[in-house]
Amino acid sequence: MAKPPEPRPDCPLCPRLAEFRITNAGAQPSWHNAPVPSFGALDAGVLVVGLAPGLRGANATGRPFTGDYAGDLLYATLLKFGFAQGTYGACADDGLRLNDIRITNAVRCVPPQNKPTTPEIHACAPFLKDEIKAMKRLGVIITLGTIAHNAVLRALELKLSAAPFGHGAEYTAPNGINVIASYHCSRLNTNTRRLTPEMFADIFARARTLKGPAQA
Ligand code: URA
Repeated sequence: MAKPPEPRPDCPLCPRLAEFRITNAGAQPSWHNAPVPSFGALDAGVLVVGLAPGLRGANATGRPFTGDYAGDLLYATLLKFGFAQGTYGACADDGLRLNDIRITNAVRCVPPQNKPTTPEIHACAPFLKDEIKAMKRLGVIITLGTIAHNAVLRALELKLSAAPFGHGAEYTAPNGINVIASYHCSRLNTNTRRLTPEMFADIFARARTLKGPAQA
């Protein structure tokens, strides 16, 4: 499968994010401090789309959700449903392998206060669009939070009104891809119990039903 274009390590598209990256690289030179590439095979049948790397997590380790609080629930859930194999160790060299699933973010660089601006979301959108196009076996997209959800709808060239965000809401796009929306597994959402581990499990159980049993 042809690889989609990736943002270059010194991607200049978002001046605020580029400046933040440079500041972080000065303070923490051993961290990744660059656009975080997607994790998982391009021929996977499922794509999970998060918001953006966390400062001390994905931005440090270079792997989506890895080392981030949100990654604890995400990777535990993937293991539970056979979408991952091994042990999640919160670092990129933990040996964890993904099965038929790929993980990416709507915005590839860490934003200050975890809040990308609208122009930054739009600037990063072509990478998500190209990635979805390059995933020739893609059947299910799980969107984590409204920003990721709307970014996916735009990438699929759908009206935002076609599939309003709601936890557990499901929509089949004209190209056959099933979009399943979930509350983001952020610390805020899990601590307030807006999102419980059971609610999150339901999302991946549904993806598992749509994709069929995990292959050994
Ligand atoms: N880490 C990521 O990579 N993405 C998120 O959305 C949150 C934390």
